[in-house]
Amino acid sequence: MSDPLFVLHAEDSESDGALVQRELRKAGRPVEYRRVETEDGMRAALEEREWDVIIADYRLPQFSAPSALALLQGMGRDTPFIVVSGFIGEEIAVQMMRAGARDYLMKDTLARLAPTVEREIREAAARRERRGAEEALRESEARYRLLAENSGDVIWTIDMVSQRFTYVSPSVRRLLGVSPAELSSRTLLDIVRPEDKERVMSLLHERMDALQAHEEPTRVRIDAVELTRADGTLVATEMVVTLRNEISGRGRELIGVSRDITDRMLLEGQLVHAQKMEAVGQLAGGVAHDFNNLLQAILGFAQLASDELPEGSTVRQYLAEVLRASDRARALIGKLLTFSRRETSRRSVIDLDDLVAGMSDMLRKLIGETCRLSTSSDGPGKLVTADPGQIEQVLVNLCVNAKDAMASGGTVQISTSLARFDTESCRRNPWARPGEFAVLSVTDTGIGMSADVVRHIFEPFFTTKPRGRGTGLGMAIVYGIVTQHDGLIDVQSLPGQGTSISIHLPLARVDAAPQKAVQPVTAARGGNEIVLLAEDDDSVRTFASQVLKQSGYTVLTAADGAQALELFQSRGESVSLVVLDVIMPRMTGPAVADRIRSLRPRLPILFCTGHDFRLLEAGFAPSPDMDVLPKPFTTADLLRKVRGLIDIGRAAPDS
Ligand code: ADP
Ligand code: MG
Repeated sequence: MSDPLFVLHAEDSESDGALVQRELRKAGRPVEYRRVETEDGMRAALEEREWDVIIADYRLPQFSAPSALALLQGMGRDTPFIVVSGFIGEEIAVQMMRAGARDYLMKDTLARLAPTVEREIREAAARRERRGAEEALRESEARYRLLAENSGDVIWTIDMVSQRFTYVSPSVRRLLGVSPAELSSRTLLDIVRPEDKERVMSLLHERMDALQAHEEPTRVRIDAVELTRADGTLVATEMVVTLRNEISGRGRELIGVSRDITDRMLLEGQLVHAQKMEAVGQLAGGVAHDFNNLLQAILGFAQLASDELPEGSTVRQYLAEVLRASDRARALIGKLLTFSRRETSRRSVIDLDDLVAGMSDMLRKLIGETCRLSTSSDGPGKLVTADPGQIEQVLVNLCVNAKDAMASGGTVQISTSLARFDTESCRRNPWARPGEFAVLSVTDTGIGMSADVVRHIFEPFFTTKPRGRGTGLGMAIVYGIVTQHDGLIDVQSLPGQGTSISIHLPLARVDAAPQKAVQPVTAARGGNEIVLLAEDDDSVRTFASQVLKQSGYTVLTAADGAQALELFQSRGESVSLVVLDVIMPRMTGPAVADRIRSLRPRLPILFCTGHDFRLLEAGFAPSPDMDVLPKPFTTADLLRKVRGLIDIGRAAPDS
């Protein structure tokens, strides 16, 4: 049984109503029929339920088809409305159809009624469906619009014929500083940085060809596209673009999403920089270490040879030149070692303000007459655990650079302050790290630097100065020292606007007190004690043992750590000092020292090494009876350390 047909009939004649009912039933469906004669009756019926069809006589005593139709439309209904009347004339029929009636029938052609009603019901259902689809489309469009508008990324579309933006989401304000409307008259190429245009276009063209071949939308991701902001600055973005054939057939369209990747680029840049500095440091450190052993032999034997020759001999003068050159080489290697953080630092708790005060006279002379030096401090308490000699070196290097940047005069301002970084301030300063720091800044009013120079200043041998003027090691040393102290460096500079370089050293614990460093100085005297010398480099070992023997010592030599230990186990009783290279085959210097100390706890030990960072790593701290002799050393360096340590050992015997 099919669903009943609900029919509302505006008709005053009962018999006409019966006629209509009979015609409708012919279609084979049950009919739920109601007849109304007045406007109120009709309104009540319409309010009561939805009807499948409304049939109206044109003219009723108290009502009419036009008013019935108006009532229906006034209630927002789209129910099929059919006029069934006596003769009404073409004109009126057309008027009714214009007003929205679906059809009209004469009472003498009622046989058409059932099929007309069926047709109208079908069409009404189709209209409902279409309306539903349109509504769903509007709904989904509204949803996608909201998605686009709420996204932090910028979403846009471009018409490929005019090349202009057809839609840009509001977040473009944040990305480029313009409104979507301002962009609507522009093309993508108007905002892409000139250097990136060709790459972007060739990628898009490639995809367009693919689109031509497949008809499928094709997608391309374009990384690191710099876009021009309203103020002329650039912003790094990543762009994902889909090309599609528009469904309407109007042409093709680009749909893109642009994302700000400034933060990512910054982090990547920092990582690359850190890795580069690490690699260069490794290389420099490795070269410097091996070179030191060679230099030790050159320096040592030149000195021994020179000592053999009479005062004033020509060969002695030549050797003096060799010694001078070796000395310069030694200084250079020292700098490289500092950069690669492989130099020992002698740390103590120092007050940055004391350090600056102690150096200001010297710095004033260094800077010369054309430049002014001023110092300032924001208050006490800048205690740091640091190697004062190294921090002085940092300050000197920064001041020399400041002076070089101010050929025609200016001011160098040295200021100290306290700084504290939390996670939030670290976000704003990507070079920073949370913590409390004492800050030492050197600011000049000189020529400043371009961003490109700033990127390279810490690299060893990077210099913008003429040959012979700059070595390119000043900032590399600053970098090495500051990072070895777990510190941070901030460089602020613009061409023509001076430079400010701030080094941040972690604050020392509050209970620490500043110490004054004591440097014991011993004369380079000889002796007659027995010294055990372990060194794997043949020429260095020969040189050292030669020097010691010439000064009266008896020397037991070993070519590696294990041999040194064996020697000590057989003859250790008579030994007054052990000299150990740090890195040796079979057993390292510190390991040998541990074993020896377990047998004779107070025996003085001297480590000699080109890069004693390994000693530091092993927890070595210089003490009166355990010291370090940096390579390359002179005869005087060696004799002084040996004598000093043996004397200390004498004063505090084992038992
Ligand atoms: P050098 O001074 O021997 O050139 P540095 O490592 O000390 O080597 O400095 C490297 C480069 O960094 C310099 O050549 C210079 O271009 C730049 N630079 C460093 N400090 C400053 C400064 N205060 N003002 C301008 N440029 C500087
Ligand atoms: Mg310099």
